[in-house]
Amino acid sequence: MSTKPTIAFFGLGTMGAGMARRLLGAGYTVNVWNRDPAKSAPFAEEGAKVAATPREAAQNADILIAMLADDTASRNVWLGETGALATAKKGAVAIDCSTITIGWAKEVAAAAEKHGLKFLDSPVTGTKPHAANGELIFLVGGDAAALETARPILQVMSKEILHLGPTGAGATLKLINNFVCGVQAATLGEAFDMVQRTGLNPEKALPLILNGNAGSPLVKAFGGRITTNDPGVYFHLELMAKDLRYAIAEAKAHGMQLPTGEAAQKEFQAAADSGMGKNDVSAIIKYIQGLK
Ligand code: NAP
Repeated sequence: MSTKPTIAFFGLGTMGAGMARRLLGAGYTVNVWNRDPAKSAPFAEEGAKVAATPREAAQNADILIAMLADDTASRNVWLGETGALATAKKGAVAIDCSTITIGWAKEVAAAAEKHGLKFLDSPVTGTKPHAANGELIFLVGGDAAALETARPILQVMSKEILHLGPTGAGATLKLINNFVCGVQAATLGEAFDMVQRTGLNPEKALPLILNGNAGSPLVKAFGGRITTNDPGVYFHLELMAKDLRYAIAEAKAHGMQLPTGEAAQKEFQAAADSGMGKNDVSAIIKYIQGLK
């Protein structure tokens, strides 16, 4: 008989699908749930137990993992009408890997505790291929003992696990990290636009920007996707608008402003509102280039 813990996995989008497949590949029993059942159905053939509700997936699970769009989605899955916490086993560990606000991380941690569970906020860095290949970095907030219980499972999906402090610490660092990413991406869009408008030869100018001092890994990756017309969707543009919004609100709660973040958020929000929300995040470059 297997002594491996049973896992409930909620959210099989760009990231969650790869993460859940890593766990199945490592031989875990995985109960999966996704709001759109078209995304969970193929997992039955891969050995997962496909649940009709978060509550059903949570039954008998020792470790519960969510990888969802935002606070609203997370609230729905943990505490909604068919939310997971109501049927989750006492003593289980609930882990939210979504990029969420610190306020929500604390609220759901308290709710999990009331139900007798431990909660970890554990957003990730890395994107679609890192999720599929087990190369994410987990940014963890919460109880150290709960992390030790979850560690073997997180290891299957990661190259590094950083325990940053109490509940909310993981969510906090993730928002700061994505603030930096969002600003760089918007700046790169403006740079591409300026190259175009000044009449420079993009084939000469862009490699200098992408490969020189300005070429951070993010600048290289996003600029590369645009210059090679990569059709892949690694991170929905609308999620960056959300991450910047959350980062700005968190900064305000600490008495500070993020003027560069606010400028970037406006651009991402406008791009998302124009219908580009489900495009890859790198499409912000095209959006800014298209502005008149
Ligand atoms: P995604 O592809 O857009 O998937 C979002 C998931 O959330 C889907 O399973 C979706 O269900 C679900 N969802 C949305 N609203 C919901 C609701 N109201 N109730 C229940 N489920 C809901 O996003 P992703 O790229 O996998 O990202 C997941 C999280 O990780 C986000 O917080 C994102 O910011 C963060 N993240 C993403 C990346 C990346 O590179 N993609 C990297 C690091 C962190 P449906 O399928 O039914 O729509």
